[in-house]
Amino acid sequence: MVLIVDDQEINRDALETVVEEDYTVITAENGLQALELMREHSHELSIVLLDLIMPVMNGYEVLKTVHEDGELWKIPIIVMTSDKKAELEALKLGAADFITKPFDFHEVILARISRIVELSEGRQLISSAEKDPLTRLYTRNFFFEYANRFFGYRPGVQMDAIVLNIEQFRFVNAIHGREYGNKVLRTVGDIILEFLSETDGIASRFDADNFAILCTHHEDHRAVLEEFQQKLYERSTKVRLHLRMGVRVRREDMDTILLFDQAGTACMMVRGDFQKPLMVYDEEMLKKEMLDHRLLSDLRAALAEEQFYVVFQPKYDIQCDPPRLRSAEALIRWKHPELGMISPETFIPLFESKGLITLVDSFVWREAARQVATWKERYGFTLPVSVNLSRADIFDPTLTDRLCALIKDNGLEYNDIKLELTESAYTQDAKLLLGLICELRKVGFEIEMDDFGSGYSSLNMLSTMPLDVLKIEMSFVKNIESSETDLRLVELILDIAANLKLKVVAEGLETEGQLKLLRDAGCDLVQGYYFSRPVPANEFEKLIQKESELITLEKST
Ligand code: C2E
Ligand code: MG
Ligand code: MG
Repeated sequence: MVLIVDDQEINRDALETVVEEDYTVITAENGLQALELMREHSHELSIVLLDLIMPVMNGYEVLKTVHEDGELWKIPIIVMTSDKKAELEALKLGAADFITKPFDFHEVILARISRIVELSEGRQLISSAEKDPLTRLYTRNFFFEYANRFFGYRPGVQMDAIVLNIEQFRFVNAIHGREYGNKVLRTVGDIILEFLSETDGIASRFDADNFAILCTHHEDHRAVLEEFQQKLYERSTKVRLHLRMGVRVRREDMDTILLFDQAGTACMMVRGDFQKPLMVYDEEMLKKEMLDHRLLSDLRAALAEEQFYVVFQPKYDIQCDPPRLRSAEALIRWKHPELGMISPETFIPLFESKGLITLVDSFVWREAARQVATWKERYGFTLPVSVNLSRADIFDPTLTDRLCALIKDNGLEYNDIKLELTESAYTQDAKLLLGLICELRKVGFEIEMDDFGSGYSSLNMLSTMPLDVLKIEMSFVKNIESSETDLRLVELILDIAANLKLKVVAEGLETEGQLKLLRDAGCDLVQGYYFSRPVPANEFEKLIQKESELITLEKST
């Protein structure tokens, strides 16, 4: 692209005729317009042809501004003048060459232009670290450098940071070869460059299939993604590729790296979600991220300072009248010195995702085993307690040994502690899980499948996994009074369980009505607020005392 700057229309037209065959031409009538256009097209402009004497802003001032500009200085400028004396001044200000007025032969002008363009491109090659040769987008470091300047030129303008990624790109390479993979990356680069030809912005390929765009704010990000996606569909017909996009709308004074970190986080969060490939990072997410970070860094201190404690929620046999206490579930609680009570719904998934859950689980198991042993000794009968196992535990090859040691160290029997496989423990690796369950049951542990009927558990699992107990997901129980379907489902699960000789625990029992329905449906065990919330050991002990009195009463009659 060539920018022709001259106040005389006749000169502009004459030059345009000379270069238009080889270059895209844009024109300006004075220095001010020229600078505006240079900024707007700084990434496409090959050269500027500049008149010196013009109204509003003359050529010298343009040269001076460009010379001092961090970005524009790279665009070579040829000065057009009839004044020999002007040449030295212009040279000092960084002009690359001269074209004398009145204009020479076309060939001479063209030759000068192309020589200067080649020269300056050569110079750019030296700093080829600036652009990714594959996509022609900036490399990461240069992108951040330019991004900072980009803000500087546009004070008060709202900007979007966009991170773009191709779903499962590594399979494209693996299946169709690197060559095709490169073609796809180039196509995405082209699509982004096309976008930037209409929008003020810059872009980078950070690495692999990670693209970043900094541009003026768009209200409708969905439309932007859809346009990209549509173009990619049309141009890569061999495979149907899906893009995902994370956006962070920039707050004034926000650090560039942080800005793209957050856009990147948003992009990560929609990974694999073809239904919802776009996420805009907002202050809520920032809060959550900061909280997560805090919790992760506080975990070890929390364990050392005993901020964690275990609560127990009873499970009752409702076929007896009155219902009888049969066992309990041990659940973790975290009383943070500054943040107060933190729900396991917040920290369990977090620690699971970072592979730290085993620390918490081991603590709960130890506490539970210690409690069971104490109660057993104090009351002369065992009240078995279930502990939760998550995915990370399943992958621990020493799991069985650790659990066995726990039993021995506390002088317990294997059926004093039961194991609940929480939802996250149902791994893709069914073989591993099966092997483990068999091993644990052989030793003497009972296995309960937690949250049966929720996301990961399935009917299929029932036929392959040897289990002892099904815990029906809370949401089914919640609606059995109002929804005929949910009641039928619970009855169906009870039926299947009876056929497979599995015991059933219904979770989340809150009302008298639910109790009656479950009892009539033949459900034996329930756990829920109706009987008791999860409570600390000393409070739970009162329930054991009551049960102990009933047992004594039975014996004496
Ligand atoms: P879960 O294992 O299914 O535990 C049952 C959850 O349901 C508990 O929530 C309990 O307080 C709650 N609940 C019990 N009855 C009712 C009721 O009637 N109504 C309602 N609305 N809720 C009821 P909690 O303690 O917040 O634990 C949530 C989840 O966190 C647990 O679900 C489990 O998946 C996980 N979790 C808790 N403690 C541990 C632990 O020590 N290790 C592991 N790995 N996960 C744990
Ligand atoms: Mg559980
Ligand atoms: Mg459960």
